[in-house]
Amino acid sequence: MKRFLRTNIKYIFSLLIFFLLGISLGLFLSFLQQNSFNNNLAQLNNTVSHNDDYFLNKNISSLIPTIPPHVNLSDFYKTYGKRLLGDKNIEIISREEWGVDENICQHEQCSLQEYDVSNTFSDEENQKALLIENNYLKNFKQYDNTFLQTKIQSNNVLYYYLPVEEIVIHHTAGQFTTNYNDSIKELQKIYYLHHVKRGWEDIGYHYLIDGAGRIFEGNRGGKYAVGIHTYYHNNGTLSIALMGDFRPGHDEMSEPMKQSLIKLIQYLIKEYHLDISANKFYLKKPDLSGREWTPNIIKGHQELDVIRNIPTSCPGIEPQTLRNIIYPYLFQNNKINLK
Ligand SMILES: [Zn+2]
Repeated sequence: MKRFLRTNIKYIFSLLIFFLLGISLGLFLSFLQQNSFNNNLAQLNNTVSHNDDYFLNKNISSLIPTIPPHVNLSDFYKTYGKRLLGDKNIEIISREEWGVDENICQHEQCSLQEYDVSNTFSDEENQKALLIENNYLKNFKQYDNTFLQTKIQSNNVLYYYLPVEEIVIHHTAGQFTTNYNDSIKELQKIYYLHHVKRGWEDIGYHYLIDGAGRIFEGNRGGKYAVGIHTYYHNNGTLSIALMGDFRPGHDEMSEPMKQSLIKLIQYLIKEYHLDISANKFYLKKPDLSGREWTPNIIKGHQELDVIRNIPTSCPGIEPQTLRNIIYPYLFQNNKINLK
């Protein structure tokens, strides 16, 4: 035994050190996580003290462990509904500027064939949809109801508001336009498709970017408004649509479009006070069976679509390719200059 100890003492010692290091790392990580939760709790208490009546019945404390630490709840309660139309670094063309025309397709020939107009599921897809619905009811409905706010905006539409957790990128699968007037016409068609054809209250996306890098306001509800863009993942997500069809062999993202996408995401993260310093995010799983830690705060629509047999190709370009373009500017404090 003594001999064994003498000859193996180095190994035993190293193992012990590794073991202790492992435990310390684990404790440190859980401390960090707890710290974030405590920050959120502090924010929440701040809010609760101003809205005691509202929160008395809501029992938020039981939800604390499931609130993603990067989400800023006090910003949510203070600013939901406020419109974000850019600052000195970024220009966003407002809805008033691009002017909604609900009758566009009655006096213009509108071909909507290029868009995915059908909203119907096959039997198998219906089964999956049912599963998602059940998962939502079981895991997230109460959570969402706890935070849900509503507001009627000046366009007389009632909007719903929830804290934002992640950003979903889409493509419109329509025309890739660089000319201003062509882009406006394209926006009108998308609005017509969403509002008139599908009967949604508003255009589904929060922001749209054309081939020349122009950024347009979509949904008119302002900060934290729930859009309509990803089945069962509209709650807690912000959507940006790239105008065009970016599947392989179709349109290609232009440089100004890429730059505007990066600038818009930087701007939104700043305005929503999302804490991205950890580079790990506690997000809903695509099938809503719970939450997971992931570095992917930016998602492609296809990554959250677990229903369709042929998964949606949206946003055409691979989501990981998109993240490779965007992430160096988000996580290394790189700033880019547009124009
Ligand atoms: Zn999409």
